[in-house]
Amino acid sequence: MREIVIAGNWKMNTLPAEGVILARAVADVTAAMTQVLVVICPPATHLKDVVEAVRGTYIGVGGQNVHWEKSGAYTGELSADMLLMIGAKWVIIGHSERRKYFGETDETVNKRAKRALSAGLRPIVCIGETLEERQAGKTFEVLMRQVKIGLDGLVLKGRGGLVIAYEPVWAIGTGVNATPEQAQEAHYFIRGLLKVSYGDEIADQTVIQYGGSVTDANAVELMACPDVDGALVGGASLKADVFGRIVKAGVK
Ligand code: PEP
Repeated sequence: MREIVIAGNWKMNTLPAEGVILARAVADVTAAMTQVLVVICPPATHLKDVVEAVRGTYIGVGGQNVHWEKSGAYTGELSADMLLMIGAKWVIIGHSERRKYFGETDETVNKRAKRALSAGLRPIVCIGETLEERQAGKTFEVLMRQVKIGLDGLVLKGRGGLVIAYEPVWAIGTGVNATPEQAQEAHYFIRGLLKVSYGDEIADQTVIQYGGSVTDANAVELMACPDVDGALVGGASLKADVFGRIVKAGVK
């Protein structure tokens, strides 16, 4: 059986004390749901506090970005070692907000993911089409490009390795989620791309999360899709009880 990974992307939300409270609450509400890998990704300022807050629980903690160099003159960036040294084990890479507002490209996503993997962080690599691309019938073309360039030269190991988050940009923060049919179609396509590049076994074991307006109201039907292996959750991850119900939907 494939892993199920439900990750909360807190983005630029919560102050340190709020983050610690939220992290403890998430640990409490998900304590019995050990079949799901639960990950929370707070802002960098309180990553360390959150790691401490969930120590001894099953919750994993992740950064929201990582640089491709080991160290150097890269103002505002974080290295993989910085994340690892404070206890983060995961990192989100190539989120559509990074692509839209901060010039992230498939090439930089590839470099960041390469670095994360070689350092021992589990990357959650985000891909997904914009509304214009979907309306122009280019969804599969875009996904193919993002997978081809974004994962170029990366060593995938399936279980325990790189995670892909399919996040249609039109669904992020809009309240309009992809239908289960749309999600399954895209996930099946992405897994097919992985099969071509990495073979059936690795493709079958690679986690492909869905992201985009996941809530406790739609999580069950999205998680029921055979190729949906969890979720990357934005807004709904800021409320422990709601996030807990989403995690519960991941217990297949
Ligand atoms: C996200 O930011 O990855 C996301 C999916 O956001 P939301 O759940 O708020 O749409």
